[in-house]
Amino acid sequence: MTTIKESKFFEKINREKVLNELIKIFGKNNVSNKPHDLFPYSYDMTESTPHMPDFVVIPENVDQIVLIVKFCSEYHIPIVPYVSGNNVGGLTIPEEGGIMLDVGKKMNKVVHVHESMMYAILEPGVTFGQLSKYLEKHHPQLKYAYAFAPPYASVVANVLLSGLTNLSCTYGGMADWINGLEVVLSNGEVVRTGSCFLSKEFKEDNWFVRYPIPDLSGLFICWQGMTGIVTKCAVQLWPKKEYNGRFLGVIYGHDTLGEVLRELGRTECCEDVSAINSELLKYTWGKIRPEKFEKEPDYAALISISGQTKELYQAKLKHVKAVYSKIQEKFNQEALFIDFDSFSKLAGDEILMYVDLPSVLTPLFEWDGLTWVGSYANPDNLGPLLKKCYDLFQKYEMEPILFTKSMKASHYCIFRPITRYKKETEEEKVAELQHELLEVMLDYDCVPYKTPLWMTDIIKKRCDQNWVELLKKIKHTMDPNRIFNPGRWGL
Ligand SMILES: Cc1cc2nc3c(=O)[nH]c(=O)nc-3n(C[C@H](O)[C@H](O)[C@H](O)COP(=O)(O)OP(=O)(O)OC[C@H]3O[C@@H](n4cnc5c(N)ncnc54)[C@H](O)[C@@H]3O)c2cc1C
Repeated sequence: MTTIKESKFFEKINREKVLNELIKIFGKNNVSNKPHDLFPYSYDMTESTPHMPDFVVIPENVDQIVLIVKFCSEYHIPIVPYVSGNNVGGLTIPEEGGIMLDVGKKMNKVVHVHESMMYAILEPGVTFGQLSKYLEKHHPQLKYAYAFAPPYASVVANVLLSGLTNLSCTYGGMADWINGLEVVLSNGEVVRTGSCFLSKEFKEDNWFVRYPIPDLSGLFICWQGMTGIVTKCAVQLWPKKEYNGRFLGVIYGHDTLGEVLRELGRTECCEDVSAINSELLKYTWGKIRPEKFEKEPDYAALISISGQTKELYQAKLKHVKAVYSKIQEKFNQEALFIDFDSFSKLAGDEILMYVDLPSVLTPLFEWDGLTWVGSYANPDNLGPLLKKCYDLFQKYEMEPILFTKSMKASHYCIFRPITRYKKETEEEKVAELQHELLEVMLDYDCVPYKTPLWMTDIIKKRCDQNWVELLKKIKHTMDPNRIFNPGRWGL
């Protein structure tokens, strides 16, 4: 249930004065305090507790953001930056009320694409769907990478959270591909980080690298909007390859999957190696709550390979197939490695929507609840982790969904147990399951990402206390009046 509680800052300034100031900055049509406009910002798909904001505003330029930040600093009014609220961690729920800064509606320009240095400068509202179409039309020789996130989710928000994509097996998490940021700080100053810092004024063509200067971009990465409002972000693009193939590997056993993921990543021949359990594969065929049959394969891996020439592509494919067969032999299994496009002819073309990204993974939206414990994990731990988490789903009589991905040639991997559920009847049970999953995952050194509040409370108790103190000091220095998304990480 969404709670409405009087926000603390109204002790310093009354509602009407705030509303008038917001209208002065953004214009009447871009400000609302009406409950039906505020309600959609008060909750998300997860078990995170909902809260109502007091206002929503729709900025269209940096100057307006500077004004609102200065005003909010003076009266200690919380600002929650928001694009589409699809982070699956309650990260845009306004814990302490205040103003939703919806940068998704009007700050969504592709500011510049630099062809030769292969980067794009984006406003925060640019979505995955929009960027994909833009590049296809204007820069067909370049590509970006896509998450399994919906096409209407923000690229920049996901980059700032270091999300994972269909190129992560080669290039790692999305934050690694940031060249620079433009950010509004809590005192209203606008700062640029990365190589673009060298010019006094904004220029389009000097956003090509993040180092070798002190990495000030890090002050805003994975901070969940708690240290500043990002108004521009340069992301690296990649050359499009001429030859591309996608393959489906069928796998029996938790340990086998761990080994497949790690070893295929280490071939350095794959753009993506992701895997899901076979139950999830069956949802894609329209099975709502599928049964698992005896002797059925446990996992399906999606493997993408590309090459600039046919010879290069074929050589990579040959090597990947050989490594795959060797693992299957080791575990005494039938090696099944199928061309995905041929498989889709059998399964139906609809299945292509799960690999032709960005797209909406409809099976995950079967009910109104969707949550997960997403983490960066050690690939060596995947076997036992998969087993323990699978068993936990069974204990709670919830359908198991397990997602894994090799990252950066298997330097690490993604491990994410996912739960889709009915909020009205299953929320309590799911919250308990989430807690148990987290504890197991922390025991295996998993590093949770896009962390909701309940998760950061647990992590803070278990982690290096000096790390927590440093986190507090940085937040306090960057945001002394606690205006940026206050409450996240308990700060
Ligand atoms: C079905 C489904 C599948 C998904 N699959 C993947 C996947 O494969 N890989 C993956 O990485 N993610 C995945 N996600 C997660 C999700 O899509 C991303 O986290 C998302 O792209 C974030 O964009 P958003 O528009 O939802 O941002 P929001 O939820 O609106 O914001 C996310 C965070 O960024 C902050 N923020 C927003 N704008 C700014 C700004 N201008 N300055 C500072 N902070 C800001 C917010 O305050 C919040 O803390 C998936 C989500 C769903 C629903």
